Amino acid sequence: MRNAPAGPSPFAVAGDLLPAEKFSDPQWTAKGEPRASVPLTKLDTLWLNTGTLCNLACATCYIESSPTNDALIYLAASDAARFLDEAEAMGTREIGFTGGEPFMNPDFPTMLEDSLARGFEVLILTNAMRPMRRHEALLLKLRQAYGEKLTLRVSLDHHSRTVHEGERGANSWAPAMAGLEWLSAHGFSIAVAGRLLPLEGEQDARTAYARLFEAEGIGIDAYDPARLVLFPEMDAGKDIAEITTACWDILGKSPSDIMCATSRMVVHRKGEDAPQVAACTLIPHHPEFLLGGTLAEASCDVALNHPHCARFCVLGGASCSA
Ligand code: SF4
Ligand code: SF4
Repeated sequence: MRNAPAGPSPFAVAGDLLPAEKFSDPQWTAKGEPRASVPLTKLDTLWLNTGTLCNLACATCYIESSPTNDALIYLAASDAARFLDEAEAMGTREIGFTGGEPFMNPDFPTMLEDSLARGFEVLILTNAMRPMRRHEALLLKLRQAYGEKLTLRVSLDHHSRTVHEGERGANSWAPAMAGLEWLSAHGFSIAVAGRLLPLEGEQDARTAYARLFEAEGIGIDAYDPARLVLFPEMDAGKDIAEITTACWDILGKSPSDIMCATSRMVVHRKGEDAPQVAACTLIPHHPEFLLGGTLAEASCDVALNHPHCARFCVLGGASCSA
């Protein structure tokens, strides 16, 4: 497979296997305590998943994208428009596009222009490689018309080529850097999504990214958490504590801080006639987190019944939005 990494991911999570009895009941934890849930406070960001096909096959791609995986098929612009109608009526601020690689979906330019024309802010998650570069003319036109309303967030898994390519495959560093440099040189609003190695401190990582950005002339402040987003690791098979209703007070957090309080993601699963709305970007395949066929139906509470809820959102404290 093109660009597939040769060995295990450098980002692999160490730890014991998750006991089967955990995350098995939406209302109760394995210890019999009430499971935490998150109500939708406002749909601030609507993610449109453009499909799982990707030009890369990263070792730990959470959505298992690859050049052949179309478990989530290409979202059609006509379906996207229906959700954009609904989001407009709900006062949604931002449309996020994620894949796979969004620029591979032939309808992507249409839904991108549609979103911007409706006045939404737009965030595109991309690897900035060849599929994006094929659309330079469109991007320049949109930057001219919409300026800072359009942000592209480029996945640069690590500040070192070796680790980035250990995760993303040989020859994946130079084209990603070239794409990022092109975006920066043309004045786009840009961000980078990176990851921390096990035991790598966040400040050390930010300092190393800052050096890289300076050396390559990339206009990103590596110390701004909205411009360099560093994600904690996710491994649904490794043990992690379940989140109970008591955890909010213990951790000093509120359900309204969690991503699914303010966002949803549209996915179109292979073999299904129409797209569905998932609770969040992180759990696109699990039936329990597919909440309905419209945004109205999906405006329900979400039970935190998945290891990602604990590791990534509540304990790791990450947000997927720029
Ligand atoms: S580039 Fe992103 S979507 Fe594509 S395989 Fe890698 S992590 Fe997955
Ligand atoms: S993983 Fe998704 S459903 Fe679970 S807490 Fe995070 S945003 Fe909510």
